[in-house]
This record gives sequence, C-alpha cells and structure tokens, in this order.
Amino acid sequence: MLSNYDKLIFEVSEVGRTGYRLPELDVECNIEEVIASEYLTKEELNFPEVSEFDVVRHYTNLSSKNYSLDQGIYPLGSCTMKYNPRINEDMAALNGFRNIHPMEDIEDVQGALRLMYELQKSLAEVAGMDHITLQPAAGAHGEYTGVSLIRAYHEKNGDTKRDKIIVPDSAHGTNPATAAMAGYKIVEIKSDKEGMVDLDALQAAVGDDTAGLMLTNPNTVGMSDKNIKDIVRIVHEAGGLCYYDGANLNAIMGHARPGDMGFDCVHYNLHKTMSTPHGGGGPGSGPVGCKEFLHEFLPVPVVSKKDDGTYFLDYDKKYTLGKVKDFYGHFAICVRAYTYILTMGRDGLKKASEVAVLNANYLQAILKEYYKLPLDRICKHEFVLAGLKGVMSEVNTLDIAKRILDKGFHAPTVYFPLIINEAIMIEPTETESKASLDAFANALIEIAKEAEEDPSILNEAPHNTPVSRPDETKAAKDTILVYVEPEK
Ligand SMILES: *Cc1c(COP(=O)(O)O)cnc(C)c1O
Repeated sequence: MLSNYDKLIFEVSEVGRTGYRLPELDVECNIEEVIASEYLTKEELNFPEVSEFDVVRHYTNLSSKNYSLDQGIYPLGSCTMKYNPRINEDMAALNGFRNIHPMEDIEDVQGALRLMYELQKSLAEVAGMDHITLQPAAGAHGEYTGVSLIRAYHEKNGDTKRDKIIVPDSAHGTNPATAAMAGYKIVEIKSDKEGMVDLDALQAAVGDDTAGLMLTNPNTVGMSDKNIKDIVRIVHEAGGLCYYDGANLNAIMGHARPGDMGFDCVHYNLHKTMSTPHGGGGPGSGPVGCKEFLHEFLPVPVVSKKDDGTYFLDYDKKYTLGKVKDFYGHFAICVRAYTYILTMGRDGLKKASEVAVLNANYLQAILKEYYKLPLDRICKHEFVLAGLKGVMSEVNTLDIAKRILDKGFHAPTVYFPLIINEAIMIEPTETESKASLDAFANALIEIAKEAEEDPSILNEAPHNTPVSRPDETKAAKDTILVYVEPEK
C-alpha cells in the first residue's frame, strides 16, 4: 500500500478538509455583476482539499525524494555542481535587488547597474576579454549569442561564403547544436589518441568557407588541449574566428585566460563556475565576452559608466545583434555570481580551480585501479572512466550508475562524452572534502567488488529507490504533469 507520502496531493485530499480560515462574507455581492458571466467558471474545480499540515508534510516529503547538493556529493561530469554559498542567496534577496522592476528609472537603480557593470568587468578580467553581455540565459544561449557575433562580423565584412563552423568531436554536445541553430554547417574534427584536436585534420578542414571554430576547453574528456595556440593560429590564418566554450572555466580560472590564448569570444556559465544554483530548468546565466573588435555587434543594452560616475543602459552598438533576452538577463543570478566573485577574491577563484583539479585527480588515481581509464594522464577538473575493468560483459555503465543510487549518491554523467565507450564522467568540484571524496570512492570500489561476486545485484539495481528502472526515454518524453483522475 502507498504511504501517505507516496501519494499525489489529490490523493491525500479529503472532502471538506481545508487549510485556510476566512471570515464569513458580510457584504452582499452578486458575482455576475462584478465579473461578466462568460468569464465565470461553470463547473466545480477539482482542487485538493487538505489541511495546512497535510500540505507541509506532503511537500516536505516530496522535496526529500529529490537528491540535491545539500544532501551529498553530486559528481555529475560537465555540470560543475559545486556548493551554492548561502550568502549569495542573502544578497540576491536584499530588498533593493529583489524588489526592483526592469522598467524603473535609471536614477533609481544605480546600485543594480553598478553591480552589473562591475560583474561585466570581473568576468572580462577572468577570461581576458574586453566586453561582456550579461543577457544570455544559459550556456547554450551564450554559445548562440557568441556564434551570432561571429556571423555578424563576417556579414559586416561582406564575407558571406563562410558557412562552416569547425567543432572537434570532444566538444560539448551543445556546440554543434548551437552552430546548426545559427544556420552553419558543422565540420567535425576527430581527436587524436591523447584526446587533443588533430592538427593535421584541422589544417585540412579550414579554408575560405570557415566562419569559425568552437572549442570546449578543457574538453569533455577533462583535458586541456596542449596545442591551443596552434589551433587558434590555424583558424585565424584561414580567416575564421575562435569561440571558447568557457563552461569548464572552473578548471583554469585564475591560471589561464581564453583571451590570452587568442580566442575572440567566450561564454561563461555563472551557474557552474560562479556557484549559482542550477538544475531542474531553473534560471541560469551564460554571459558572453568578446574582444574589442567585436563589441559593436553585442546585444543591447550593456551597462556602461559615464565620466561623472553614473551608470546607464548603453544602446550605442552600431551593428548590434539586437536583444537575445528580454530586459537585461537573469539579474538575480548575476547578484549571486557577483557575490561569489567578491567573497572569493582573486586568490580564492584561483584556489577554487586548483582544488577542483586536485580533487578530480585524487578520485581518478583511486578509481583507475578498479575502472578502465582510457586517457591515463593528469586530468583537469573532471575525468572519464570507461566502465569496470574486466567484467564488462555482465555489467555495464548503466548498472554501475544505478547501483550508485543504492549507495546514497547521485550518479555521475554516463554515456557521455560519446567518444568514450561506456563513459562514466566524474566531476567532484572543489567544494567536496577529502572525506566526502573517500566516501564516494569507497562506494564505487564496493560496486566493483559486487560486480565480481554477484553481478545480478548490479543488473537489477537500484533496489532502494521509489522507482527502480523506468523507461528513461518514455519518462522524459511522455511525462504526465497533470493529475488524471483514475477511472472509477
Ligand atoms: C554545461 C555546458 C554547456 C551548456 O550550458 P547550459 O547552461 O546547460 O546551456 C556548454 N558547454 C559545456 C562544456 C558545458 O559543460
């Protein structure tokens, strides 16, 4: 039988139960005189009838079914699930930030504009860029904005035969998707044995039809490309521009800057590197940085400062793309990111990427004794295993990931990147302690032992979760999000 906590709120409902108390109506009112009858609901609405306590218990129990960072390590490769410091939330909730409206007079929102201006400056400094737009709502949206800058640049130069974007096969999946959305043909470059972009293949691919290259660096196997200067040179010599997917900045922040490597534009994932919350489709933020020669193409407005020290919304971008987002981007996320940057400081940001890389290498060194490690090198902030050593005929990566749930942890990213068979992609981030890394590693070691002794435990996992193995495609594509009353 279902306990009350496994039911839907509609199923908890009891006729006549209420969770509110209103005084008796003491005025005469004919509702049809107030609201035109065509707008009045004719049928009884099917609202759940529950007490206040029912509601509190129902949603509290529901929330605890959802694994979150606040419960434990969330080693989802490529996602940088680091701790979201609570002070960021406090700052975003300050009255002067939370209660302003985007249509307010500029004089009344100088503080908010200053924050945006200084965030633009800080981000520019982190990646070695000259100008920033805070508008894009997510990483992929930033990519789209960045590639649109590249397009606008070539169009302005009348260089319209450039219809191809080069994307290495170690790129994040959003890179080719973005280039295709922006109307480009994709040229894929294979990685060499070490997971680097194959320079000969790149040289052969570029030409006067190359609009640009998108590079995810460190790439999806957690390696920073050691030939980066050559990659940039080859693309620039062919007349293309270089886009840096900066979602993995957590690996290099404070140590290396895409701008210094020669890249022309970059996006940031504030909801990764800068510790703002993400997941569940909530608001993210994917600002884009560019070099001076691209700034006149940026979306409007950007926040600029006058000589008298006041801030304004600057629409003066001669070849602007227009807007890529209503108003000014996700402002409250910007407040969180700015708070993070200030609390960490220059040295703190640098240390964060150092520890992120250290933590990944620590786990990699432990786990490679039990799991296949296709690229056995010092990694950056994440690494990719290729299933268990030895017993893969009976146990695959999905089994391992499902069994991790039984051990009380969120699973890593699996079957991505596509260039590694049976991939298990682990990104611990810098905010996990050694004790937490050890606990996670021990769970994976236990699983390796179980696979030797009794693979069926893994094949049938998870055993302790409310749902065991749903049809994942159906669960994603055919989700039922409204209450359907059971047939009587
Ligand atoms: C997460 C990620 C993206 C996409 O970011 P979203 O905010 O999810 O759109 C792009 N590139 C890389 C390398 C990423 O890790």
